[in-house]
Amino acid sequence: MRSDPHSQSHDSNTGTGEGFTTGAGRAPKLDQGQTVALPEDREPAFEQHIHDILSEIGENPDREGLLRTPYRVAKAYRFLTEGYTMDIDQVLNGAVFEEDYNEMVIVKDIDFYSLCEHHMLPFFGRCHIAYIPAGRIIGLSKLPRIVEVFSRRLQVQERMTQQIADALQHALQPLGVAVVCEGRHMCMMMRGVQKQNSVATTSEMLGAFEANSKTREEFLRLINTGF
Ligand SMILES: [Zn+2]
Repeated sequence: MRSDPHSQSHDSNTGTGEGFTTGAGRAPKLDQGQTVALPEDREPAFEQHIHDILSEIGENPDREGLLRTPYRVAKAYRFLTEGYTMDIDQVLNGAVFEEDYNEMVIVKDIDFYSLCEHHMLPFFGRCHIAYIPAGRIIGLSKLPRIVEVFSRRLQVQERMTQQIADALQHALQPLGVAVVCEGRHMCMMMRGVQKQNSVATTSEMLGAFEANSKTREEFLRLINTGF
């Protein structure tokens, strides 16, 4: 029977002591008098869970190569899920401009890296974004930022695609928005059906892209990259 990790004391990890302790609070086995620098961004509770996962899969979390792994994994997950701490309005703040341009604007091949919410395994690929302005445009560098806000969290590709389109629609009130995402899913490639080469394509068409097939086809022709 497993012990409840929440009931364990993490006190031994929260101090500013010299030693780099593992998630379980045990000191690493180093030569006498030797210490490892203690980073300031330790997350004892988070690291304890990673430590428990290492044990659960049959590893020894206290062997030398794994001593810093809970710390590294916690940091990696904070980065990969940074979208939770980003505010889309703040990201777009000051980047929307009045402009009379009313032709299609396309930015294609925006890399994205996300985690599927079913397995917490990566899915990654490219997004292609287009919009037709109606008096307002957005700084082009903001489009990859929008993608980051919604990709750096647990996702399904379908919802991520919609959220990117909705954010642009909301910020610009344009004549139309189109988003196509092409992703490879590790949960399909490494496990389960092990389909190594399949690419999932999702799309969201709003306004003119939904209503006008010529507009939609022009967009699809221009982004046809064959990822
Ligand atoms: Zn999955």
